[in-house]
Order: sequence, then C-alpha cells, then structure tokens
Amino acid sequence: MPKIFENFFAELEQMSLLEATTWAILENLIIFIVCLIVGHILVRRYGDYPITETPDPISRLEILFATSCVTLNIVVTVVGIITWQNGIIHVDFGMNPLRIIFDTILLIFAMDFAMYFFHRMAHHPRLYPLIHHTHHRFENPRPLTLFVLNPFETLGFGTLWLLVITVYPANWLAIIIYLTLNIVFGLVGHIGVEPMPDAWVNSPFIRYISTSTFHAEHHFDDEHNFGFYTLIWDRLFGTISPDYLDDFSSARQGIPHHQGVETSS
Ligand SMILES: [Zn+2]
Ligand SMILES: [Zn+2]
Repeated sequence: MPKIFENFFAELEQMSLLEATTWAILENLIIFIVCLIVGHILVRRYGDYPITETPDPISRLEILFATSCVTLNIVVTVVGIITWQNGIIHVDFGMNPLRIIFDTILLIFAMDFAMYFFHRMAHHPRLYPLIHHTHHRFENPRPLTLFVLNPFETLGFGTLWLLVITVYPANWLAIIIYLTLNIVFGLVGHIGVEPMPDAWVNSPFIRYISTSTFHAEHHFDDEHNFGFYTLIWDRLFGTISPDYLDDFSSARQGIPHHQGVETSS
C-alpha cells in the first residue's frame, strides 16, 4: 500500500470520536462542493445535449433536503469509522490486483442489485409518499438533486452500504473505487444533459452501463429505470423504459424530453 494511505489509515484507526467527526464533516463537504462544481461544468459543457428542460430556480426545500442529506452522510461516515475501529467492519488492506478488481466488481453488482430492489420497493404506493416522493418532486434534475433526498432514503442507502461491507470484508482500494464511482454515476444521472457519445448505447457491454438519460428518464417516468449503475436489472425484470434509445438520441440531437414527441410515460 502506498505510504500516504498507510499513514492515513493508521491515523484514522486511532482517531477519537471528535477527530473522526471532524474528518467526516470535511470529507463530505468536499464531496458535496466538488460534485456541485463538476456538475455545473458538465451542464455547461454538454448544454447542447439536453435531456430535460432547464430546472426551476433552486428552492429552499431543495437546500433543506440537501443539507439534511450531507449531515446524515456525515453520521453514516462516522458510524462506518467507529464500527471499523471496533472490529465490526473488516477491511482488506492488501494490494493483490485480482482481489481489488474482484471486490470492485462485486461491490458494484451487489449494490446495484440491492439498490434496484429497494428503489422498486420505495415506489410502492404505501412507501412512496413517506420515503421517495421528495426526490421525485424534481422532474428536471440538476447536480444538487443528487442530494435532494428524504432523510429515510439517505439513511437507507448508508445502512445498506455499511451492512454490505460488514458482511463482506472488502479491499480498501475497491471501497474507494466503488464510492467514487457511486458519486460519479449519481452525479451523471442528475445533470439533465447527456455527455455520453452516440456510440454508447450501441456498443456491446458499454450499452449496459447507465447514462444520464437513463436516470433522468426515471424522474419524468417513475415506472421505469430503477437501476443506478447498470441497465442489467431493468432489462432482466422488464422495467427498462421503452423510450430509452429515443430519449438518448433526442438528447444527443439537442431536443429535451418535453419538446420531443410525447412518449408513453
Ligand atoms: Zn434521481
Ligand atoms: Zn424513484
């Protein structure tokens, strides 16, 4: 393991609750700010490929929910550090490349499947108003929408994640790669523009990887596209949007959803 990481984890393991909390606050604030900046750059850079129409100005409600999301993510981070310090969560600190690749793929597929399952559950008429309606209030997403989640939802994802790494002692680098990809996919799904090239949806294998259109469609058609990182589970369980390819190519031609031909949603 590179020295810089070795020193970092050695320090993290010894941190008091206050130090761990301070570190978690810093980490989550940096992630939040970087997401908003990179998201803003992507929206401007790919503004010629709109999937949805320009969202309304940011409301107080969005700021409130985003603040609660970041706060709860800090709590989840602290719980993760403490449970690791106390030997409940085990992490593999090796550098075996096969293990790193295997664990990264495993975490992506396990979390993708679990999140697909819980996302579909969150759309159950009894749970939807309590848990998931908050996120769907915003039909035209923007980078901030990634953080506009009901507190139950934020805690649900955090708990699921901590449970997965409690059950499976994953490699440290695989954890970092997975968490980075989770943010990248989350951000790309909420920029409202399509940065992926035209060939993306026709390439073997790559076409099963999520695009911005894929999740943006879920915001205006909540009966389809429940997956996050891949299209695999939606294809397997028949919930992929029938308009996916059309909406993708419309966006790439510069036509946002509501200005295009009205679809089945
Ligand atoms: Zn969303
Ligand atoms: Zn949903």
